[in-house]
Amino acid sequence: MVKLKIHKMELPKTVIIGKGLLSKLSEVYSPIGSGEIAIITGPHIFQVIKEKLYDGIPNLDDSRVIKVQSSSWGEIDKAIHLLNKHHRKIQLILGVGGGKSIDVAKMVAYKLNKPFISVPTSPSHDGISSQFVSIKDSRYAYSIPTKPPLAIIVDIEVVHTAPRRLIASGFGDAIAKITAVKDWQLARDRVGEYYGDYAANLALLGAKIVMKHASGIGRGKVESIRVLVEALISDGVAAGIAGSSRPCSGSEHLFSHALDMFSTEHALHGEQCGVGTIIMSYLHGLDHNRIKRALRKAGAPTTAEELGISENNLITALIKAKEVRPDRYTILNEIEIDKKKAREILTSVGVI
Ligand code: ZN
Repeated sequence: MVKLKIHKMELPKTVIIGKGLLSKLSEVYSPIGSGEIAIITGPHIFQVIKEKLYDGIPNLDDSRVIKVQSSSWGEIDKAIHLLNKHHRKIQLILGVGGGKSIDVAKMVAYKLNKPFISVPTSPSHDGISSQFVSIKDSRYAYSIPTKPPLAIIVDIEVVHTAPRRLIASGFGDAIAKITAVKDWQLARDRVGEYYGDYAANLALLGAKIVMKHASGIGRGKVESIRVLVEALISDGVAAGIAGSSRPCSGSEHLFSHALDMFSTEHALHGEQCGVGTIIMSYLHGLDHNRIKRALRKAGAPTTAEELGISENNLITALIKAKEVRPDRYTILNEIEIDKKKAREILTSVGVI
């Protein structure tokens, strides 16, 4: 039998961005998905948005709000167990919160074959819209494909008041596409990997626009944060068009994943990816100082000290980054990096 060569694109169906959406949430999602709902959120953010959420969803009771601490398999299994035991009639799962809550909700919905709506409360990474879930535990820390959200609902008032650090982290994840796309082009040229010019350019466009808004994002300007949210949503769409995380995740993400796996100290995903983008843009021969300046303007860390990660941990992550996903060809496959070389690179870009 001839194997069908197909390219499948899975995209979110609806994106709704506006002010005050959280306090009328059921009105907003009802035309998109109906039936009994469950909410997966984080304990801290739940306290912050509790009132709005209960205003927005009349009839919501605490038993249908599942609070998760991290995006680990343990938390995913726990949530699935709870839903199977007490809420067999659930027809819609809402992930409300930051990256972790949304990642867990997306995976739980996928495993239970239920539609999922993403309601991010901060623009901290592109997982708010993509079909990929990043699971963090000691065995591995990279993205697993599931299904994209049925809808993304962003209350810009809530997102705008997110902690500055989360917003700056989202900026780091958005500009990471500059090196991710370079790596993708390299993989096309060196190992003949499928490359989608449209998806690549969509991801690059987002990076370019947020770069222009770097200081606005750093100052917490509403329009600039809206641009960041839109860029992160487009990144998820770019991954959907590509059918892989390629346009969004390259060597800079491998570096961040290596920190998650091998370092004893960690920063936020987008913060680590931002610093990864400085390093990898240098290895690609791009203007790494431009990236660094933009990260600074956005209020994101650019050095070991600002990241709160020691030199040794950064050196180890840089050496081990290419082992995280050996199937993903990047600039790291073209350079031998030992301890001395890693130190040299990190010093050249001013990270250490
Ligand atoms: Zn990312």
